[in-house]
Amino acid sequence: MVTFTAAEQYAQVTVAYMVDNVCLQDAKVREIRGRFAEQARVLRESGGADAEQLVKLEQEMNEAESAVPLVAVPKPKSRRKTEEQEADKGASAQAKQANDRDEPPAGLVNELGVPSGKFGWCVACRATANLYCKHTRHPVCSFECKQRHIRLLEEAAAPRDSTAASAAAG
Ligand SMILES: [Zn+2]
Repeated sequence: MVTFTAAEQYAQVTVAYMVDNVCLQDAKVREIRGRFAEQARVLRESGGADAEQLVKLEQEMNEAESAVPLVAVPKPKSRRKTEEQEADKGASAQAKQANDRDEPPAGLVNELGVPSGKFGWCVACRATANLYCKHTRHPVCSFECKQRHIRLLEEAAAPRDSTAASAAAG
């Protein structure tokens, strides 16, 4: 049996976390495109679509797309929030609303077939993650996994000798 070191495990977790974020962002962007394509279709079929409306719709779609963050876990709260609110009146309100729905993309699953949570998948066990660790800002499924993840981080950061010693002692 191969036993991976804490540093190796942490590297694996980090790569999985990065891939998860790319998949989540891609799925969200595709959902936005689908939603706007549907709106455009309805507009066209109602016969009331003029070029100007369609251009406006496309602009809104582009705004919504570019507002999708690369990282699913939100950044720590800061004054950015109030600036956003100030800047948000008007055209981009819909874009913001679209991204504030906070729902995981429908039908998105990980390599184990587990559906995505609000923040993707747990960094410790790959289950659906509707929580995140405030300390590391990594998605987790439970308090137990959060603790397990922090323990891994501490072990990965510790010098090799002390890791071996604590493993032997524990
Ligand atoms: Zn978990």
